[in-house]
Amino acid sequence: MTRRTALEPLTGLVVDRDAVRRTRPELFDELLSDPATRLLPLWHGKALMTDASAGALDLVTPDRQSAALVRVYLGRTLLAGLEPVGTPVIAVTLTDAAAAELEPDESRWADLRRVGTGLSERDYALFCEAVAVANWHESHTHCPRCGTPTVVEAGGWVRRCFVDGREVFPRTDPAIIVRVLDDRDRILLGSNAMWENNRWSILAGFVEPGESFEAAVIREVAEEAGVLVTEPRFLGSQPWPFPASIMVGYEARAVDVGDVALTPDGEEILEVRWFTREELWAERGDLLLPGGASIAHAIIADWYGGPLDGPPGGAAR
Ligand SMILES: [Zn+2]
Repeated sequence: MTRRTALEPLTGLVVDRDAVRRTRPELFDELLSDPATRLLPLWHGKALMTDASAGALDLVTPDRQSAALVRVYLGRTLLAGLEPVGTPVIAVTLTDAAAAELEPDESRWADLRRVGTGLSERDYALFCEAVAVANWHESHTHCPRCGTPTVVEAGGWVRRCFVDGREVFPRTDPAIIVRVLDDRDRILLGSNAMWENNRWSILAGFVEPGESFEAAVIREVAEEAGVLVTEPRFLGSQPWPFPASIMVGYEARAVDVGDVALTPDGEEILEVRWFTREELWAERGDLLLPGGASIAHAIIADWYGGPLDGPPGGAAR
């Protein structure tokens, strides 16, 4: 696979979603009678792992299926994992009873945010897709127009209202996340009011209706830090299904930093600061930076020139 942005493997294509096949009425009958098919069990947003150390998804054979609340055909894998390339995978959300029957040991069920860093690219993508669609089903059970309960169609990718025929499709909410650099190549980090003390990251925010990603970048940085930026440049993106986001990564250049005081908004962002790579390294004992599974981590590490737990420019890349 060609490396298209600095942020691979977050952005790679590793599942063929096989959208044409979704609409076949006999889809699940066909898939469940195919011995190659695997199920990805989900229970309260957690997936079943092969062991408590959570190194890989435990995809189970169709005969181990018990009653599923919702089934979603995720597609066919384009990378091998414990199963070969081309494995069809169905996400199944389970009741407490069904989950306990499948695997009573709760340490085998893991949250994506906890285990994401250690997963393979394939398992990460499958887990993300499954959680994102499952979250949508959970919060969109009724028709937004008339309030009637909707039914699931198209392999789990549509909910239809039988009163007015309305089809509802899974939603994903874009949020920009931006690496702002100044003319000395320092990076702008902020400390969010929602976070524990001394946790720092690049700035981010939801895209508003009617707004381009680029305009959102400029607006968010002005709002959160009082800094005017220019030339937003796309870096890469990452689905972040908590509950339904896609993080769209940008870099932007600050304008006239020398004369401008940083003004955190005081509500969402309590503190903003410019960091050199050397400062980030020197203060590493006091700073908490984004976790390794996040696009924020990848964007900062890409600027830093190597892993964040080593000196700037660091180890082999
Ligand atoms: Zn309706």
